Amino acid sequence: AAKDAGRGVYRFYADAMHNQASERKAIEDALRDALAKDELRLLYQPIVDVATERISGFEALIRWNHATAGTISPEKFIPIAEESNLIVPIGEWIIRTACAAIATLGSGYRVAVNVSPRQFANEALPATILSAVSGAGIRPEQLELEITEGVFLDESAENLAMFRKLKRTGVRLALDDFGTGYSALGYLKKAPFDKIKIDQSFVLGAADKSSMNAAIIASIVGLASALDMETTAEGVETHDDLALVRSLGCSHVQGYIYGQPMQLAEVVGLLRAGGGRVEARGYRSARAPRLTV
Ligand code: C2E
Ligand code: MG
Ligand code: MG
Ligand code: MG
Repeated sequence: AAKDAGRGVYRFYADAMHNQASERKAIEDALRDALAKDELRLLYQPIVDVATERISGFEALIRWNHATAGTISPEKFIPIAEESNLIVPIGEWIIRTACAAIATLGSGYRVAVNVSPRQFANEALPATILSAVSGAGIRPEQLELEITEGVFLDESAENLAMFRKLKRTGVRLALDDFGTGYSALGYLKKAPFDKIKIDQSFVLGAADKSSMNAAIIASIVGLASALDMETTAEGVETHDDLALVRSLGCSHVQGYIYGQPMQLAEVVGLLRAGGGRVEARGYRSARAPRLTV
């Protein structure tokens, strides 16, 4: 079986690597298949409320477990799903699966899903959300949509109209990866988000003495609080970075220090064991410079 799997991996990539265009096409076809064959999964990463030190909710992060090629990163296949418009049916599956997860977790928790630009532009999105929320029997404010700045690049009337329609469904809206994109701040006034997520590129290693990131985080927190928005610091791995983002006033923290993305069954176990609390455990990913302890 291992040999078969190895051959499968080889074939998948050999087919895919033929050239750029056919790579995309091969992944697109395999992805369409994956949706039909139920090979997509959502994992859930805890988000902790700094004030109460309790888990307030989770971010749902998609994984593709390909039968032979193994786990394929969303950074690889989401852009292809976007281009091919497959993101619309996949996005609907994500929303319905996340709402079912919220129903499992109970009324005390939220789940955030990532919504990509094509999905945001789809007229049917508000109706899909309302149907998923009522089908699962959850409150709409338990569902949060994470939208990246890229969506507001053109500040078009259509974008703002969609923003308002989504807001009227009662779901929460979060601005994801803040600071990495175009960052014209005008749209924050026109599109009042409930939360700003501070990108991990500002957070990873922010406590290192030489880092300018603390100043950037402080200014984002100041902006958010003036606009009455929450802030989640993403990518908190170490106790030093945790202490820093807390002292800078971030309202929420997400990162490997509290847990990696995990399966729903693990989430249920975690909540049962900790009663909604989770311990901070130091972690350093290979990307961050390793310090001696
Ligand atoms: P994102 O929405 O900004 O998600 C956060 C990413 O940071 C996740 O990677 C998460 O696993 C990772 N992360 C969280 N804490 C830490 C940490 O402490 N250290 C480090 N080094 N990384 C951390 P992931 O799951 O690989 O997702 C990558 C990106 O793919 C996401 O960025 C999002 O843009 C996209 N994506 C993931 N799931 C979905 C989805 O369901 N729909 C859409 N449209 N995009 C998705
Ligand atoms: Mg996100
Ligand atoms: Mg993010
Ligand atoms: Mg990101």
